[in-house]
Amino acid sequence: MDFDTIIIGAGAAGMMCAAHSGGRTLVIDHAKAPGEKIRISGGGRCNFTNLGTTSANFISENPHFCKSALKRYTQWDFLDLIGAHAIAWHEKTLGQLFCDESAKQIIAMLLKEMERAGAELWLKTSARKISHDGARFHLSVERDGTQVALSARNLVLASGGKSIPKMGASGFAYDIAQQFGLGLVETRPALVPLTFADQRYAPISGVAVPAVACANGVAFEEAVLFTHRGLSGPAVLQVSSYWSEGEEVVLDLDPKGTLFTHLRSARTEQGKRDVTTVLTQVFPARLVQHLSEEMGITGRIGDQSDAALEALCARVQGWVQRPTGSEGYRTAEVTLGGVDTNGLSSKTMEAKTLNGLYVIGEAVDVTGWLGGYNFQWAWSSGWAAGTAIAASTV
Ligand SMILES: Cc1cc2nc3c(=O)[nH]c(=O)nc-3n(C[C@H](O)[C@H](O)[C@H](O)COP(=O)(O)OP(=O)(O)OC[C@H]3O[C@@H](n4cnc5c(N)ncnc54)[C@H](O)[C@@H]3O)c2cc1C
Repeated sequence: MDFDTIIIGAGAAGMMCAAHSGGRTLVIDHAKAPGEKIRISGGGRCNFTNLGTTSANFISENPHFCKSALKRYTQWDFLDLIGAHAIAWHEKTLGQLFCDESAKQIIAMLLKEMERAGAELWLKTSARKISHDGARFHLSVERDGTQVALSARNLVLASGGKSIPKMGASGFAYDIAQQFGLGLVETRPALVPLTFADQRYAPISGVAVPAVACANGVAFEEAVLFTHRGLSGPAVLQVSSYWSEGEEVVLDLDPKGTLFTHLRSARTEQGKRDVTTVLTQVFPARLVQHLSEEMGITGRIGDQSDAALEALCARVQGWVQRPTGSEGYRTAEVTLGGVDTNGLSSKTMEAKTLNGLYVIGEAVDVTGWLGGYNFQWAWSSGWAAGTAIAASTV
């Protein structure tokens, strides 16, 4: 069976691409349903974009690569699409936009857009072998247990990264990209909780505090959550993308810098109280108990010198953590690294050395922060490839 374009992966990027690629387009996916990650994202409400999206919110060996696509298909363009489908949304925090009702509305919207564009969708279909004869791609796919031979002028790799293998994530795009001569930037789990082999935070699991988390000089101020196995919460997920095994993460539990003033006034007004009691006026009691054991915090607040209070604040503001690992691809929201952008056009996502081969979405070495940026990259890169394909097939 011959197509103009075959897209591998009916996720956010693949469906967006299919809605714009024109001609005879087929999307294949080995899953039973399209857009499974969209469905589970944002607690079932999909944080589909971020109002403040710029290239600064992405990590890549080439930080300039994502600029063109993000500028040509912006968060406002996606909001127009959402508006045209009458999907109600709200801003939760920090520019993060969520559906009022359900992430399933985004999937339904993309399916409608694909249908409008005349694209076909084959689910439960896996690509086995892919080759190129100099003009067209030839695919051997398995559909419902039957081998089917397909060919297309354009092949779009939209099969995502390695995160959440239980949901069908695979390194497929990387293998095929390499088969056709594209490079790979080393991959690792990102937006992922960090772990400690000794499970030191098990006694305070469930405690959450506002904090600044910093790894490799990059800092995020949001909540930090202590868990059975280690550290999580948005601030930690964000810095996990900048952290490598063996490195430290520094937590500042006094992000507003008000602790010293509080302790000094407590010294005057509540001098007989223990320092730990005063600290429970600022932090959850279970956290204070942990800090007092780890930092040896003892004595009455009235007996502390300015220097002692300053030293205590400095420790709370620069609490050094050495995670021993991360939860890995099992729970990582995204995969850092991927297909090397050096081999791709930033305007069209097409391979520079093989006409008709495109790579989009998470498979590319472009990884967004937490907060809707990863979906925006999927929309922007999918749109860039789709419109380029449509223009080339006219
Ligand atoms: C739990 C969770 C929550 C998230 N929440 C958000 C959020 O709220 N906001 C945000 O911006 N980002 C979020 N993300 C990240 C976001 O889901 C991804 O960045 C985005 O889905 C990437 O889109 P994609 O189309 O490139 O890949 P995917 O959405 O992963 O789609 C890839 C598709 O390819 C298919 N596939 C894989 N291998 C093959 C193969 N060999 N053959 C055929 N098909 C194949 C898969 O079944 C899948 O349907 C979240 C991720 C997770 C895991």
